[in-house]
Amino acid sequence: MRIVFMGPPGAGKGTQAAILSKTLGIPHISTGDIFRANVTEGTPLGLEAKKYMDAGEYVPDGVTNAMVRDRLTHDDARPGFILDGYPRTVEQVAELDAMLRSAGTKLDAVIELTVDIDEVVQRLVKRAAEQGRPDDTEDVIRRRLQVYAEQTAPLIAVYDSHGILTQVNGLGEIAVVTVAIAQAVNAQ
Ligand code: AMP
Repeated sequence: MRIVFMGPPGAGKGTQAAILSKTLGIPHISTGDIFRANVTEGTPLGLEAKKYMDAGEYVPDGVTNAMVRDRLTHDDARPGFILDGYPRTVEQVAELDAMLRSAGTKLDAVIELTVDIDEVVQRLVKRAAEQGRPDDTEDVIRRRLQVYAEQTAPLIAVYDSHGILTQVNGLGEIAVVTVAIAQAVNAQ
């Protein structure tokens, strides 16, 4: 299955995508994780991405699309994948469509985790402290949520019009959210 997880930062996409990845035996591909790994390793990609990440802005589409295009050609992604944090812009949606079309495949499901914004800010502030992400200040967090609302939230209507979107309340217990996601995936 080829699945996309959407929802604002802090909605629990990473947690849920990791669980579903184990259940389905397909890779969990998080563009944020790939960028962070590159920042840690100090690669040219990491140095480029860091400028944007630190400000809560999106890394330019050209950079992000090339990275995903490469990742999706790895053998483990052939039977399927869960994309977490991609696509995030209209251009990324078009690029992903083109990548899948040229491989003769398409997306099976888009899961949107819905949350209350104030709750999410609290979660992210806590996570920044726990995971040692000192750059994740409340200002940067609010900027990331604003960028999400402006650039990414509109994509939800696009996937809805394709008939592959399911909205799941992300605010419940982790196990409850997992069950709701599994039902949504099975239904597709
Ligand atoms: P995340 O962990 O998914 O919230 O991603 C952390 C940061 O990485 C984001 O705030 C962006 O700066 C960058 N990033 C991750 N995915 C994308 C994407 N699809 N397009 C642009 N920037 C991204």
